[in-house]
Amino acid sequence: MPESNQTVISLENVSKRYDKNGAFVLKDASLSAEKGKFIALLGPSGSGKSTLLHIAGLLDKQTSGTIYIQDKNVSRMSDNEKTAARLSKIGFVYQYHHLLQEFSAIENVMLPQLIKGAAKKDARERAEELLRDLNLRDKLKAFPSELSGGQKQRVAIARALANNPILLLADEPTGNLDPETAALVFEDLTRIIRKTNMSVIMATHNYELAAKTDIKFLISEGKLLKQ
Ligand code: ADP
Repeated sequence: MPESNQTVISLENVSKRYDKNGAFVLKDASLSAEKGKFIALLGPSGSGKSTLLHIAGLLDKQTSGTIYIQDKNVSRMSDNEKTAARLSKIGFVYQYHHLLQEFSAIENVMLPQLIKGAAKKDARERAEELLRDLNLRDKLKAFPSELSGGQKQRVAIARALANNPILLLADEPTGNLDPETAALVFEDLTRIIRKTNMSVIMATHNYELAAKTDIKFLISEGKLLKQ
């Protein structure tokens, strides 16, 4: 069981292989994220970072091992409970923004809230607040095609945070940006994370960014090694 009620997510001896007789991508990986902690997941391309994030985000299933979200064993959750947990407790940011092109910035950030059942007015207020916090106050009504790479990624971050998740899973969130923009977007992301006290697991191969996190793990040959 997780050590304390401050533990947002806990992976215990999680192993994963995609094919029955294939190689293990993860081998007995254990990790727990306390409230407010920013964790970096390091490792070269193909080492299993995305696999771990998908499992932690309930988008894929481990071959063996146990996952707890807060104190709840994920294996005992129904599909509906998992969907609800994904919508209200977990935010995702990917390397690519995945914004809906036919919706404006503010609408992209309102959407997950409306899906969760928020009133339109509240969703709009929350989206505005987040986009302002991410230095996009002048771009609320802009469409993704009218935004720079850094701005699109900021909208994607706002969308991930829209439902106030307790856990943010970020897969190379600044990996598509030039170094200067990446540093600025990362700075904004970090400021918001610190303000809200959420837990974050971020996959990256950027050691400079990882240096600014609280805890670092390296994935090597499927094992999670604390740095
Ligand atoms: P990373 O995010 O560190 O680049 P991944 O988790 O994407 O690594 O991949 C780890 C390994 O798992 C790779 O060898 C990759 O080919 C394999 N893999 C990832 N997803 C699948 C899948 N859906 N089916 C089969 N193999 C996969």
